[in-house]
Amino acid sequence: MIRAIYPGSFDPVTLGHLDIIRRASQTVDELIVGVLNNGGKTPLFTIEERVGMLKEVAEGIPNVKIMSFSGLLVDFARQLEATVIVRGLRAISDFEYELQMAQTNHKMNPQVDTMFLATSLEYSYLSSTIVKEVAFFGGNIREFVPEPVIGRVHEKVREKTGK
Ligand code: ADP
Repeated sequence: MIRAIYPGSFDPVTLGHLDIIRRASQTVDELIVGVLNNGGKTPLFTIEERVGMLKEVAEGIPNVKIMSFSGLLVDFARQLEATVIVRGLRAISDFEYELQMAQTNHKMNPQVDTMFLATSLEYSYLSSTIVKEVAFFGGNIREFVPEPVIGRVHEKVREKTGK
């Protein structure tokens, strides 16, 4: 039985993330999407909001669970008895950091290996940061995030900007 963790900030979940969730869930027995509750970064959405949106968009995929975590990913993996970490690779610019993280995590927990999935071509440009930038400037984000997330992003932007 292979249990994998797909970790990230998911602030907010994009169609690129959902594509990785779908594809990764087909290659492992159980996929836990681990939403990082990181005190250092200031996300647009709270941890509860990010978990809630992921639950909604991944609802139909039976072997996917959404959980939040804080602290070291390898400790979370150990706690869940997960042996695989899933990460998406978009461009060569992702590679250096991802390789370093994968090697560090393996060193800290030799039971865990990182599996990289290449982004689908149509999402290779997409990131949560781009989605937020477009939304803050009043652009259309329909092509970038799952349907239930569109309104939440616009609502949040209105809250933050007072517009
Ligand atoms: P982090 O803050 O850890 O980078 P993100 O929420 O931005 O987390 O991303 C989580 C994971 O999803 C990372 O492995 C990232 O490379 C991957 N990812 C993000 N956007 C895409 C995309 N458009 N296509 C494929 N993978 C992606």
